[in-house]
Amino acid sequence: MSSTLLKVNGLKKSFDISSGVFGKKKTLKAVNDVNFEIIEGKTFSLVGESGCGKSTTGRLISRLLTPSHGEIWIDGEEISNKKESQLKKIRQKVQMIFQDPYASLNPRMKVKDIVAEPLVIHTKLTKSEQQKLVSKMLEVVGLNEYHGDRFAHEFSGGQRQRIGIARALILKPKLIIADEPVSALDVSIQSQILNLLKELQDEFHLTYLFISHDLSVVEHISDYIGVMYLGTIVESGPKDTIFSQPQHPYTKALLSSVPIPDPRQRRERIILKGDLPSPVNPPKGCRFHTRCPVSMEICKSVEPVSKKGVSKDHFVACHLIEK
Ligand code: SF4
Repeated sequence: MSSTLLKVNGLKKSFDISSGVFGKKKTLKAVNDVNFEIIEGKTFSLVGESGCGKSTTGRLISRLLTPSHGEIWIDGEEISNKKESQLKKIRQKVQMIFQDPYASLNPRMKVKDIVAEPLVIHTKLTKSEQQKLVSKMLEVVGLNEYHGDRFAHEFSGGQRQRIGIARALILKPKLIIADEPVSALDVSIQSQILNLLKELQDEFHLTYLFISHDLSVVEHISDYIGVMYLGTIVESGPKDTIFSQPQHPYTKALLSSVPIPDPRQRRERIILKGDLPSPVNPPKGCRFHTRCPVSMEICKSVEPVSKKGVSKDHFVACHLIEK
């Protein structure tokens, strides 16, 4: 029977910032009422332009950041208000893979010590027990035992991401939050890393929260997709529904830029006008109305609520759906 591993309810995160010469205080609402859940062993992808709040959502769930409001349930435990000292057990269950394998690996440490670091922090294993697990994990991610004696700068981008994945998996976590894990890599290497993540998911029954700005990257790895715009999820549902019957104008615009492998088929490209508005001063009504190609009068003043879409578990926040 499938069970929910992660559930996020009404998640919000604001940052107080000062701007201007007089340092006037303003509030940046990075994440604004995000709700979703992930079934154990499945992949939920958060997709949207940079600055939409998807990475902040990932950092809140891993509790690198503390939420301003809302609940985060992981494996039946509510963790949103837990103090750092109470988070040790959760950190073993939740690990992150970061976008930039260059920046996330300590250049002064040997690879075997980088991968062993979580074991040092979270377990009482002896040095030789740690190194045995490290050697095994390096092989699992497609590297060799002898790679452990080298430094991160001696590896290619794809190999460094494999090291990052080995470090994330060494504690046998349940949930992996992968924040743009392939966007710094060449296209040919991207598919190798995505295939590796898929194989590891099957082997270790992992649950993924996958964060990306690119719908074409998440197409093959996702079971469910949430499309984020200015801090909120505007459409979410099973991957097939999002790709074959997108309902929200923003999802349609994102999808229009995804290439179709068949050269006989063409998608009409929807170019959105303007930049993402500032989360310090988001538009009233529907947050997307300033760029929406089919905006109506009501959209300028009334915020749309999320409604059931065209299939099970499909939700859309758009006044067009309410008609
Ligand atoms: Fe566009 Fe209005 Fe729908 Fe927002 S609510 S996406 S502005 S049609």
